[in-house]
Amino acid sequence: MSSSTKINTDSGLTPPSAGGGASLLIKNGRIITASEDHIADIFIEGEKIKAIGRDLQVEADNTIDAAGMLVFPGGIDPHVHLDMPFMGTYSSDNYETGTRAALFGGTTTVIDFILQKQGASLQSALDEWRSRANGNAIGDYSFHMAVTDFNENTKKEIKHFVEEEGITSFKTFMAYKGALMIDDRQMIGLMEEVKAQGGMVTVHATNGDMIDYLIEKHRSEGKLSPLYHYLAQPEVTEAEASERFADMAHYTGCPGYIVHLTCEGALNAVRNATRRNQNVLVETCIQYLLIDASLYEREDGAKWVMSPPLREKKDQETLWAGINQGLVKVVATDHCPFQWEQKLMGKDDFSKIPNGHPAIEHRMELLYSEGVHKGKITLNKFVEVACTNPAKIFGMFPKKGTIGIGSDADLVIFDPYEKHTISASTHHMNVDYSAYEGWEVTGKVKTVLLRGKVAITDNKCILDKGYGQFIKRSKVDGKI
Ligand SMILES: [Zn+2]
Repeated sequence: MSSSTKINTDSGLTPPSAGGGASLLIKNGRIITASEDHIADIFIEGEKIKAIGRDLQVEADNTIDAAGMLVFPGGIDPHVHLDMPFMGTYSSDNYETGTRAALFGGTTTVIDFILQKQGASLQSALDEWRSRANGNAIGDYSFHMAVTDFNENTKKEIKHFVEEEGITSFKTFMAYKGALMIDDRQMIGLMEEVKAQGGMVTVHATNGDMIDYLIEKHRSEGKLSPLYHYLAQPEVTEAEASERFADMAHYTGCPGYIVHLTCEGALNAVRNATRRNQNVLVETCIQYLLIDASLYEREDGAKWVMSPPLREKKDQETLWAGINQGLVKVVATDHCPFQWEQKLMGKDDFSKIPNGHPAIEHRMELLYSEGVHKGKITLNKFVEVACTNPAKIFGMFPKKGTIGIGSDADLVIFDPYEKHTISASTHHMNVDYSAYEGWEVTGKVKTVLLRGKVAITDNKCILDKGYGQFIKRSKVDGKI
């Protein structure tokens, strides 16, 4: 057997410079996908992966030596809020700064949320979000459509979104009454229509009425510190809503996905649903795996005010186990940063603190360091929950989320041993604090490719705003 492997391509290799765009060869990296782990070369032409094999004999315009490095697919964060209007202000990362920070951390594609205004159409919200995103993103992006007012008019728009816009996931809120929340009647109606059109319903599953009651109770008693944000959203509010959502998804047969699930009670509701052969898809976020509610007792507790709130140590254990049990399919961020000055809008009242925290840049490195390096999850599982499952669940696979012939050349070259410390003074997110200030991380993103172009190298982003493309997604059925 010769020392070189025959080149395997989808269309036959054309000689370099014979068209197809610039070519790039990544040599000797340890390639990790959700199911593979092997050392090989990757040949890229234009935006796509053309060949994978040992000692590829091919001329390329450029070569990167990845010996000793891991090579995994570009990360996909399916839960971010960039440039999101909120209380007269906006989340502090726009599409340029947010997708750039994501690229620095190895995330090449994000899915943001369009919010319908109650009383207005889905289309008008899409137009508004496009006006902020178009031409500004550096990394690739897509949208979920958050339906906050489901009625006969909204119903007519669903088919268009799925068929024409490539937006196939519809977010709902069971909380934030009067602003974003829909009732169960609307939920059932939406599920029936979305199922009929080939989409999926996703949910912020917490009991909005219970939470409203508890917020008002604490405020009327003069309990106004960030700790009461946490105490107004006890585990039962999430467990109850998760069970109710699972029941409605089961009844309608609509594919269902719970975003940012945080706790044992809610995961048990999903686990119980498996006993009747249902598969409710679950996302958690990196913060719920790593940090806990004791932070709310600090003077700067507003930094971690988010909904649902951080939970207990036992919930972290539940979520890590849930990943390994295959119940938790995705690790996202719910990235929604606000500058400290914006957080101070609620310095005298926890209910006025803008919800959200910055994480888009560090999801992959934190999950690797705390998950893989510390032995909680395997390398393949890491890729599965951070890259592959989000692509499969949301209709982007195998274009995104894996390293395969014909896939987009979205790749991360990663040093598994390099140690570094997370800090607001070195991060690239447009926010003046870090929720993980001083955290020591093992493993560092070194080089990132997005559709064949080097995006990150030598700690610099060399792509400009406008490179990021809107990714139209396929119909989805809840199976992965
Ligand atoms: Zn969110």
